Formats: sequence, structure tokens, C-alpha cells
Amino acid sequence: MAQIRIQNVRKEFGAFTAVRSSSFTIEDGEFFMLLGPSGCGKTTTLRMMAGLELPTSGEIFIDGEEVGMKPASQRDIAFVFQMFALYPHMNVRKNISYPLLSQGLRGEELKTRVAEVARILRIEHILDKPVGGLSGGDRQRVALGRAIVRRPKAFFMDEPLGALDAEFREHMAEELRALHDRMGATTVYVTHDQLEAMQMGDKIVVMNHGVVEQFGRPQQIYDWPATKFVAQFIGSPPMNFLEFDGMIGIGGDSIDLGGVKVKVPATREGRAGRLTLGVRPEHVRFSSDAAYRGRVIAVEYLGTTQIVTLSTGHGDLKARIPSSHVVHEDELIGLDFDARTLSVFDAENGKALISEANEGVLAHG
Ligand code: ATP
Repeated sequence: MAQIRIQNVRKEFGAFTAVRSSSFTIEDGEFFMLLGPSGCGKTTTLRMMAGLELPTSGEIFIDGEEVGMKPASQRDIAFVFQMFALYPHMNVRKNISYPLLSQGLRGEELKTRVAEVARILRIEHILDKPVGGLSGGDRQRVALGRAIVRRPKAFFMDEPLGALDAEFREHMAEELRALHDRMGATTVYVTHDQLEAMQMGDKIVVMNHGVVEQFGRPQQIYDWPATKFVAQFIGSPPMNFLEFDGMIGIGGDSIDLGGVKVKVPATREGRAGRLTLGVRPEHVRFSSDAAYRGRVIAVEYLGTTQIVTLSTGHGDLKARIPSSHVVHEDELIGLDFDARTLSVFDAENGKALISEANEGVLAHG
């Protein structure tokens, strides 16, 4: 079990900076997600924590001990790169035993450890089968078994479900999460899939261009995005942005959107100039007496809900409403927003001005 803390960690590859001054803490037993688009520095961050890459500067602590100079082999971390990497000529039992055999373990203890892992993974019935004939799911369980049997301090996984088809991926994601809950070991998991991160993670770090944009629980990140990047990266469809020129004072709780007063949560910072109002599609309400209006330009039917795209004086906006509500293209609709759910950003630097629940989770100033 392990707590992992990284402090101002930076990584340069020649003139290119892959990770810029990252700081966050992974608590003991957490299922922790490193999330962001391709090339944002997730894998590099994971490799530095594992000891496979040296930081250019900054410190990494595992259980309070600074591990900067400790090689990967001494950090006691199981890296699950590619779950299907098994020894094809060995049966399941031998595949799982292998890491312990190479540590010199033999006899009863070896047997007990392998049996324990087989029980946790529910693969007792296939222990003596060759790995060649196993289903994809069972192969994945055996590969996990080989990582678990060492009883490492933490598991690191880099897009472990990336190659799977959607249905199987969802199934394995649930299984991985359930396995984590049974074992309680710290797990650090890299993904570019926001849905996977939201579903599986206790905490998420969102990265972009080597910068930690936000660090927090899935709901904090969804409800109180620290930046416009996070607001757009999380959620499907993402948060809508309405751009306007205006001002809001510290603690201000309303904005003027083209002559219409819109209530927003109290701001942490005041600002005058170019601002962005952020509203999630499910928080747009259709209301015949609302003064703010949009014209319907597209309707996308999704079963129980529909996504209605409207053109407003401040840009296009998508609303998720029940499909039972009849909407026609070109219709002019009054729009109301649930004040508690709105975000306001500085349009220039993209940072949130509202942050009640965000206090303490913003990873950089
Ligand atoms: P992906 O999901 O595509 O792997 P990522 O977020 O994990 O993305 P990294 O693999 O950490 O991103 O890479 C971050 C940036 O650093 C990329 O632009 C990558 O090209 C660069 N990079 C990574 N390793 C090296 C290296 N050894 N030498 C030079 N550049 C590197």
C-alpha cells in the first residue's frame, strides 16, 4: 500500500518540455486517474513515478520517502503495460507463479500465494489450462494475476483497456474497479477517455500540454471545472461557452448577458473584460417566459433525451432535454439556466472565476 506525492515535477526532452511543474498527491488505496489528450504528458508522469524516467527537476515521494534516485526495481510498483503479455508456452498457474519463482519463492508459500490470487480473480478453474486457448477476458485476468501476486505497493496501468472493443472494455473496467476495491491497493491509471476516468476514478488529474489543469474528485471536476479546457474535455456534449464583454465583482452573483440579467454562483475573483459563461447542456431549461432566447438549428434524437442546438447572440449552445418535448427547427425558444450550476471564466486565460467547491483542489494558481 502506498501514498505517492509528486512535488513540482518537471520533465524536459531536449528543448521540449513534456511535463511542467506538476504537483499532486495520490492517497493510499486510491484509484487515481491521469487524464488528458494524447501527448499531454500522462505516460511521462507515470514513468517518472515508476522510476523509468528521471525528472529534470522536482521530487517524488512514496510513503514519505523521496525516491528520486531509487531505480524502478526498488520502488515495488507493478507496471501493467499490456495486459495480454503472457508466456504462451506456460499454463495459467506457471504464468502467475513466474514473478515469485524469480524472487526465489518455492513450496507451500508459492502455492498459497498463487491460490490466493486465483481466488481474488475468480480463475481457480483455469489454473491448469494453457493460456493459448483462453478467452480475452481470462487472458486479461491472468496478466493481472501476474502483477498482483508480487503484492506490490502500487499498480500502474497505462491505457490497459485501449485495444478492447467497447462492450468488453466496459466489462473489464467494472472488473478492474471491483478488483481494486477487494484489494485496496493504490492504483494509478492513465487514460485519454474522460468517461472511463469519471466512472472508475476516486480522483482525477486532468493534464494538458504538460500542465496539471485540475486535480480532484470526478464530481468536483465536472461541477466546478477550474479551466475552460477542463470544462470542454469533460462531459459529452461538453460544457457550452457563451462569450460576452462584461464585468463581475468579487462575490458578484449575476452577469449581464446582452441586456439579460443571469444569476450565477458567487465569484471568487472579480473581472472586467472578455468573459465566458459556461453552462452544461443538461442545465439549460426551455422556458417560454425567459428573456434570453435562442433559435433551434439542429435536433439530435438520443432515445430518452435529445440534444437541441440553438444559435444565440453569444454563440451556439447545446441543450439536453427530454425527447418528449417537441422542438421544431427554426423555433425561437426562451432559455433559462440553473444558477447553481453555471461557471464563469476569464475568456483570455481560461481560468474559472467561480470556485466554491473548487477551493483547495486547484493544482496551480
Ligand atoms: P499518449 O496517450 O499519446 O501516450 P501522453 O499524454 O501519455 O500521450 P507522453 O507519452 O507522456 O504523452 O508524451 C508527452 C510528450 O512528450 C509527447 O509530445 C511526446 O512526443 C514527448 N516525449 C515522450 N517521450 C519522449 C522522449 N523519450 N523523447 C522525446 N520526446 C518524448
